[in-house]
Amino acid sequence: MAKILVTGAAGFLGSHLADRLIAGGHRVIGVDNFITGDRRNIAHLAKEPLFEFVEQDINKGIQCAGELDFVINLASLASPVDYSAHPLETLLSGSVGSYHCLELAKEKKAVYLFSSTSEVYGDPAITPQSESYWGNVNPVGPRSCYDESKRFGEALTMTYLRQGWVDTRIIRIFNTFGPRMRKNDGRAVPNFIVQALTGEPITVYGDGSQTRSFCYVDDLINGIVLLLFSNLTMPVNIGNPNEMTILAMAKQIKAALGSKSEIVFNPLPGDDPKQRNPDITLARARLGYEPKWTLGDGLAKTIEFFKEN
Ligand code: UDP
Repeated sequence: MAKILVTGAAGFLGSHLADRLIAGGHRVIGVDNFITGDRRNIAHLAKEPLFEFVEQDINKGIQCAGELDFVINLASLASPVDYSAHPLETLLSGSVGSYHCLELAKEKKAVYLFSSTSEVYGDPAITPQSESYWGNVNPVGPRSCYDESKRFGEALTMTYLRQGWVDTRIIRIFNTFGPRMRKNDGRAVPNFIVQALTGEPITVYGDGSQTRSFCYVDDLINGIVLLLFSNLTMPVNIGNPNEMTILAMAKQIKAALGSKSEIVFNPLPGDDPKQRNPDITLARARLGYEPKWTLGDGLAKTIEFFKEN
């Protein structure tokens, strides 16, 4: 069984990944500074012998005693509202924070996995987006603190790989949703569910014709685990190519809750990508990855969580 350090372990994806790794019998050292993570996401692991937690900010350095087999860097301000509120921390986490994680992996001779994003494709001019597409990113726009941080993190990861310093993996994560997202993180799915539950207006930005492809968290975690234990060193898209408009998502959530909330149209934030759809051919061929959750089942689980919390 492996010893695995996970940064961002108190976050949405990090806490689900910790659960999955522990269920597989692995030892997990969770790291988080709670800038967007939540102690409640790991509270159930307090007495778990395979889990240990260290409060640390990866941007300031990262310490870990003993051996490590894997370093998984999920520390990220992934919501547009969060990274706009903390642009400098966002830029530093992909650069300085990633550097500290890579140095740790190098010292421990551990495999390093970097969580990148579909945002490296920016506002993509082609669809679906495959890993060979270099993207259409505004380097100075409102989303640049996030996009360029992740692009730098990829470049840094590839440098350590090419220099022969660390064996690395890069996952490009597409829109993911599920239990343990923060109610107020500002992303479309939590906003729409909370608004539909409370009877507030459902806020669609722009005319709602922009598209996203939403992946349920369990499927995304499957992708991370498959990649981790593979030998695929080039970036790989993980998501669900179930593309839909944001207006259709708002309507589906409203219907799922039988909500009387009205759908209102608010201004579209700057540089909001018009379309996003993962080409997962590489993940299917090289990892045997296949998303299994339907949108309806995933939304039902997520709605249950938001009702209870
Ligand atoms: N969005 C929306 N209403 C909201 C929150 C988001 O219409 O209350 C839109 C947003 O403009 C984007 C899409 O939904 O087009 C997905 O936004 P999200 O913040 O979930 O993630 P993104 O894919 O933009 O990183």
